[in-house]
Amino acid sequence: MLNELSKIGEQPKKGITRKGLSIEERDAHRLAANYMKDAGLSVRVDEAGNTIGRWGGKDKPTLIVGSHLDTVPNGGAFDGAVGVASGIACASAIISSNIDLPYALEVIAFTDEEGAHLSGTFGSRAMMGRLTEKETMEKIDGSLNPLAISMEKVGLNFSLLPKAKRDPKDFIAYLELHIEQGPILERIKKPIGVVTGIPFMYRYYITIKGRADHSGTTPISMRDDALRKSALFIEKFYHILSTNEGKIIGNIGNIKIDPGSFNVVPKKAIMSFELRSIDQNYLKEIENRLLKDILFKIDPKSKMDNISRKNGALMDKRIMNIIISSCKELGYGYHIMPSGAGHDATSFAPYIPVGMIFIPSVGGKSHSADEFTPPEAIEVGAKTLLYTILNLKNDSSLLKKGKIN
Ligand SMILES: [Zn+2]
Repeated sequence: MLNELSKIGEQPKKGITRKGLSIEERDAHRLAANYMKDAGLSVRVDEAGNTIGRWGGKDKPTLIVGSHLDTVPNGGAFDGAVGVASGIACASAIISSNIDLPYALEVIAFTDEEGAHLSGTFGSRAMMGRLTEKETMEKIDGSLNPLAISMEKVGLNFSLLPKAKRDPKDFIAYLELHIEQGPILERIKKPIGVVTGIPFMYRYYITIKGRADHSGTTPISMRDDALRKSALFIEKFYHILSTNEGKIIGNIGNIKIDPGSFNVVPKKAIMSFELRSIDQNYLKEIENRLLKDILFKIDPKSKMDNISRKNGALMDKRIMNIIISSCKELGYGYHIMPSGAGHDATSFAPYIPVGMIFIPSVGGKSHSADEFTPPEAIEVGAKTLLYTILNLKNDSSLLKKGKIN
């Protein structure tokens, strides 16, 4: 299935482009639907374009095994696709072995996880009723909502979108297998990552002001150099991050200097940066330290503007333990780690227990044509997912229909 999927949206030597709600993404969903039917699942596409393959009676609580089939532009063949393909393989194994489980199984390929429209995890948020007001508006600033345009183009009805919402009480848990998208598992030679959480992600602009002067005539001691002050901030920013590795991570991705000339002392620097942590309180503490203890001390006139706060999620401890015991049963090494990227699990975490399994990304590469995970590593991941699905029944506290986290 992964090989066939990799042909959909393939760009010669430039990876795969299968944007959310594009013809290519729909083709990928149709392919997955065929595999779901072959596995013995009954398939439907909901109002948000999520492809759902179900096994088990309506009276049973439902376990979701999900991921996505869209890619970023020029993305890879494994991000998302591995999770959907493994979910179908697990369902096929369970159905063909006539295993009786106290829960129904839904393998779901979610629509537009990568955020081709407005923001990411569209399909899973639609399912949990977590779309933003802007996403549900027919018109934005007088023009048709781009989401509505894309939906109509692929034969989905934008006005029916609210019908994709499901009652979280019908679900017992959410599981997802995904590539790590980073270098850690490969480097420490562990085949499985047991995910602790998906980080909260905050983004900011910092503006540091100085004074423009002729750089040939103004002695260094008499300058007010915005770039030099920015360098101080950058140094202290990375000092905090590197002394708290594992708890928080971040990046200064851009710095714009005004006027940006050979012979003019910089009068203004605007930096864009982000912070990620699965501990929201810690993230706020670091935000405060960066602003009050560092930035204002470098320059009281500077300012830090938060431009977005994206929610993260904590994985359920019971599910983490089941993943760990499944690894032990299979004889696989594992590493307990936070996710660096966002995933559909975030949409479900406020309502039901969620768990994620990572498999290594060769060279830590992802969102590119070089993204690769060998078939043997995928098999290890899929087996761990299968054992986790089966072992979930051993924790009776997870099985009650209508249980909300
Ligand atoms: Zn993904």
